Order: sequence, then structure tokens, then C-alpha cells
Amino acid sequence: MIRYTFMDENVIYTNLKFLKGVGDKKATILSKEAGINTYHDLLYYFPFRYVDKSEFVKIKDIRSDEVFIQVRGKITDKETVSSGKSKRLIVGFSDETGRIELVFFAGLKWIYDKLNIGQNYIIFGKPSRFHDTFNFVHPEVESESSYTASLSVSENGTTCKYIPVYSTTEKMKNMFLNTKAVAKITRNLINECYGHIKETLPEYIVKHYGLMSLQNALINIHYPESPEILTKARYRLKFEELFFMQLEHQLQKSYRTNKSEGFIFSHVGENFNNFYHNNLKFTLTNAQKRVIREIRNDMRSTHQMNRLLQGDVGSGKTLVALMCMLIAIDNGYQTALIAPTEILATQHYNSIVSMLKGMNINVALLMGSIKGKARKNILSNLEEGTINIIIGTHAILEDTVKFSKLGLAVIDEQHRFGVEQRSKMWQKNSVATDGTKMCYPHILVMTATPIPRTLAMTVYGDLDVSIIDELPPGRKPVSTLHLTDAYILKLYDFMHKQIESGRQIYIVYPLINESEKLDLKDLMDGYDSITREFPLPKYQVSIVHGQMKAESKEYEMDRFKRGITNIMVATTVIEVGVDVPNATVMIIQNAERFGLSQLHQLRGRVGRGANQSYCILMTKDNLSADSKKRIDIMCSTCDGFILAQEDLALRGPGSIQGTQQSGVLELKIADIVKDEPLVRTTRDLAEFIIDKDPELSDKNNSLLRKYFLKHPVVSDYSKIS
Ligand code: ADP
Ligand code: MG
Repeated sequence: MIRYTFMDENVIYTNLKFLKGVGDKKATILSKEAGINTYHDLLYYFPFRYVDKSEFVKIKDIRSDEVFIQVRGKITDKETVSSGKSKRLIVGFSDETGRIELVFFAGLKWIYDKLNIGQNYIIFGKPSRFHDTFNFVHPEVESESSYTASLSVSENGTTCKYIPVYSTTEKMKNMFLNTKAVAKITRNLINECYGHIKETLPEYIVKHYGLMSLQNALINIHYPESPEILTKARYRLKFEELFFMQLEHQLQKSYRTNKSEGFIFSHVGENFNNFYHNNLKFTLTNAQKRVIREIRNDMRSTHQMNRLLQGDVGSGKTLVALMCMLIAIDNGYQTALIAPTEILATQHYNSIVSMLKGMNINVALLMGSIKGKARKNILSNLEEGTINIIIGTHAILEDTVKFSKLGLAVIDEQHRFGVEQRSKMWQKNSVATDGTKMCYPHILVMTATPIPRTLAMTVYGDLDVSIIDELPPGRKPVSTLHLTDAYILKLYDFMHKQIESGRQIYIVYPLINESEKLDLKDLMDGYDSITREFPLPKYQVSIVHGQMKAESKEYEMDRFKRGITNIMVATTVIEVGVDVPNATVMIIQNAERFGLSQLHQLRGRVGRGANQSYCILMTKDNLSADSKKRIDIMCSTCDGFILAQEDLALRGPGSIQGTQQSGVLELKIADIVKDEPLVRTTRDLAEFIIDKDPELSDKNNSLLRKYFLKHPVVSDYSKIS
């Protein structure tokens, strides 16, 4: 993510091949294997650990096979053994405490000739376990004299006690670019760049946060003088990385609020009030009220809304969305609600139509499976403006779908959609059929996959966030149990009892990878044993999976919804949004294969009615430590926000939906989990700066301005230059 540095640009963007010790061939490999093309790229190719040069491990003390270590000793013997593919060179290496073997599989002749029996060497590498001893496979070997000469003192006069360790690939190693070789060229690089690395952060920031200068940080990240200085160097680089990311978000946001025009929904009218007083069957939770207020404030200001609505499963987001859509309709605009699956879109359609009963609002459903004349009708009514609410799937995003006046678009379970789709919705409005000046519609995206706050700050940094942190009253937490497959009979027993007392049950099988066929087999096998245990005519069992036609899916869902079937066997197609309050048991097969957020989503399908609900996590007998931990966390809490935080800690940001597009995964040095306090600090700072100086025109911010002129955040950002 770090991609700036205003060093003397001529020097810093020099092609790496001109650096001492590199040349054409190595430059090509570095570019291909590590994306390093210029001096700048190599400066930002940080070591992932350091070895204390003064620390040598004795052979008898070698324990762990995980870390890089140095051993000082003598070569005692060398022999090439075997032939063909398993041909290898085995070198005996001893110090006063023992002997260890160095093993080489490639470049045998060259290495054999280079290593002299009886001479002192330093070896450097990761020991690997081999039976009950350790050996080194392809360690880096350097004669003691050359070692001492090359690393005792750096050329800018400081002693460097540490050897940086860089990640390298097989291909790099084959081209003599092992970590030591990379270390050598970074030393040349630092010597060459010294004096040319200019500060990127304004002085007042550097001073206030006590930051190291960029030049010092970049030198010390490669060749730290001491652990303390290394910590300061890392802090400085993390600060910078996170700060520029946050500043970018704040600029985008401020641009949107100040420069982008939005429809002004100035009043709350007849439809909203009518609904509120006559149709709404329950009282809104305080959280729902607060969130509706937040959205309303956005929609009546002059800027376009871009808001993320987060709320745990079952917190009542649909209702919030509907009430906001009514405000849009009261102000003369159309609205759209987009869901990721046909099942969910259909469900939204049915429940919204029933909630709006008796009101004069035209609601339509549009999905891929709606074709021919019906589709044509919808499209023309939409364009003429007679449809007030369109509900559907991706089908709404197609170019043929045109609105008369789209004022608000709601995207449900947005983690299932990409940024691209969001922006497609933005552009829906360029043509107004009634001649009004058109703006982008207001956008409300909703997600039931809670995102930890720090992540939300970074992934959705440019969105405003509303949170429903309260469930409707009377909800009992779903009681969650873990059972191994051996307890299947007990499980059947429990299911019989639940069905006898009138409840319904989901059984879900995981969708693994793309091997739909295999998954389907699991599912069908499961379905067979369930129908054997719960036979007709006493029991009815439904099945739903992704390979079925839309009509059949709908037919089965509908039977389950109406209580005709007792059990629904399904793949994760029912993961999101499905609402059947009488279903009280969620059985998840192979639960160890699901991530926390998915398990939580599935569990959210039950616990929606008045009866106590259960989630049963079925797994095989012996679980990996990781899976066990996930299952335990699931059993211990129903709070989606806690689960999200745990998920982030367990699996890192890459596992969380939405991070892929956010730049978070490109962070080179900062870690949004471990560096949470710094995420907050830099966010607050960025907010403060943009609040006071939205165009970065203050001369104290000239360095920041310079950065953004080079890396525009919004397409017409150049307007502020
Ligand atoms: P989610 O946030 O998961 O999308 P839904 O919008 O599907 O949740 O709402 C879950 C259920 O709670 C629905 O049956 C809905 O009618 C009901 N509900 C929503 N708000 C309230 C409320 N304030 N009081 C009682 N029930 C509510
Ligand atoms: Mg929902």
C-alpha cells in the first residue's frame, strides 16, 4: 500500500538494474518474482525478521525448526550420494558441541567445489527436522572471513548488529538471490539513497507524534541499530501507511459530502405516516429509530448518501430499509431493493407487499427468472415511473433496466456484491425522463456480517456507518451445541421431539469449493438418510440447492415457510436472510468447514420466533485446533460483533468479506488487527485535518497535497489543484 515517497525522484525511481550488484539478469528476476522494479520498490521490500549477528547457536542447542539461525563451525566431510532425482550432496558440519548435516539438491558440483573441508564457515538458515535430529536444507554458507568483512560495519559508519532476513522464492535462490544476497544489495541501495530520502509527513505531524524521519526509518527497517530503534522505525512506517490510507478515505468522503449533489427528500409524508400509524405491527426498537433518523438526515441534506447499515442477523434491517424507501416515495422518487439470491428477493417481495397492505404503493419483483411479457411490462412501468418499489436480484443492475426517477437504492447483504455493482447502481440515473436534473441516487448498503470497528474504519472508510445494536424484544439467544457424528441417534431423537411439538428444522450441508457434484452427493446422501428416518406420510422433507431451477426452489421454500414440510435439507443457499419464525433448529453438518461468520449467519435463521431455538454444530471426531476454537467460540456467544472480532484475530483480514477491494490486504507493514490503536489515531488525525482543511491548501499541509496530486483519490480531484 505504501506507494509514495518524495525522495529525489530521479534517484529513487531509477531502474534497479543500475544498482551496484544487480544488473540485468537479477533485475529481471526481482521484477518477476517480487515485483521490485526500482530503487523505491526495494527500499520498501522490508525484511520479515532479523538475526542478531552476534548470536550463534550451538549445534547441540538446535531445537526449533521454525526460525532462522546462524551456526559457526567447520566442514568435516562432503559426499554426493544416490543418483537421478534423489541425487544430493551431504556435507558434514561440526562445532565443538556436535555434528549436523547440510543437504543440497541443486547446484551440487558448484557447491561441492566451493566448500573446503577443514575451513571455518558460518551457516545461516532454517533447520528442518529429519527423523529425530535436525539438518539444514540449502542453507546459506559463507566463509568466516568473508562474513566478518561484509557485515561488521555498514558503509555509512553505523555498526549493524542485525542481519535482515527477506522472503525469497525458489527462482530467486536459483539466481543467487538468497536472503543474504538481497541483504547485500539493500546495503548498496541504502548507501546510494542516503541523503536523497525526503520527508513525506508535515513537520507538525512528525513532531506531535514523535516520529522518526522517513530516511532514518527506511535505513533502520533494513539495518536496525538496536531493537528500540527498529521499533521506532516500524512505528513510523506503519503510521505513514495507515495515515495515508485514512486520509484518502476522508478526502473521498469530504468530496462526496461537499461536491456531489444529492436529491433532497425534504419531507416525511403521507406514506410514511400512514405506514407508521396503521400498518406497523410492533414498536420500533430504539436502535431502529436512531438509524432511521441518521438515514433521514442524510437524505434531506444536499449531498448524496452512501451509508452502510450494520446490524446483527434478525435485528430488523428490512423494516428500516422499507421505512426509508417510503420517505423517498413521499418525495416523488422510485426506490430499489437488491438482494443476492432469488429466494431472498422473493421473500423480501412477499413480506413487503404484505406489510404495505392497503396502501397505494406499487411494488414489483424483477429477477433473471422473470422473462417475456411479464418482464417487458415491468421494464416499461419502471421507466414510466408507475412502479414505486422494485425488488430483485442482480437483474436490476442490467443496462436494459431504466428508471424514471430513482431516488434511493438499498443493497441487502452487500458483502455478496462487489464494489463494481455498487457503482453500477450509482449510475442508474443519468437520464431523467421527466426533465428534472438528475443526481446519483442515495445508496444504503446493509450487511448482517458484522465487521469489527477497526476494519470498518478501513474497509468502509469512505462510507458512513449506522449500527443497529439491539434485537427486537423477546428474542431468546439460540442455544448452541457441538455434537460429533457419533451422536447421530441422539440428534434424531431430539429432532423427533421438536417436530412433535410443531417446530421445523433446517439441516445444512457445506458447499465446498466449486466441486458442486461432490457437494451435491453429500447433500443427497444426507437427504436420503433423513427421509429414511423421517418417512412419508408422517413427515415431509424439503430440499433446496443451487443446482435447482428457480421455480422448484421457490416451491420448496414456500412449502417450508407455510409449515407444510417439517425439515428443510439445504446447501448454504439459505445462508442469508431467510425468515421462517417457526423454524427452531438449525443443524449444520461438517460445521468445521465453515468460517465463523458463515456459521453465525446460518444460526441466524433460527431464534426468530417466540420458542427457544437451537443450533447444533455437527463435526467429525478429531478436529484441528483451529476448528475446535471456532466451534467453541460459536457455542460461547451469539453476539455477531464479538464473533467478527474473533474471526479477524483467527483468520486475518483476508477472510473477511469486503476486504479484497479495500487495500487492507496490500498493507506492507501495518496490521489492522495488531495495530488497532494506530488505526484509530491515524483515522482521527485524518478526520481532523480534512475537517479543517478539506482541500489541503494550508501551507502546512503542502506535502500531503503533493501526495494526493500525484495519487488522485477521486476522478476529478484535480479540480482542487
Ligand atoms: P435482518 O436484520 O436479519 O434482515 P429482518 O429484517 O429479516 O432482520 O427482521 C427479522 C424479523 O424481525 C422479521 O420477522 C421482522 O418482521 C421482525 N422485526 C423487525 N423489527 C422488529 C421490531 N421492532 N419488533 C419486533 N419484530 C421486529
Ligand atoms: Mg435481512
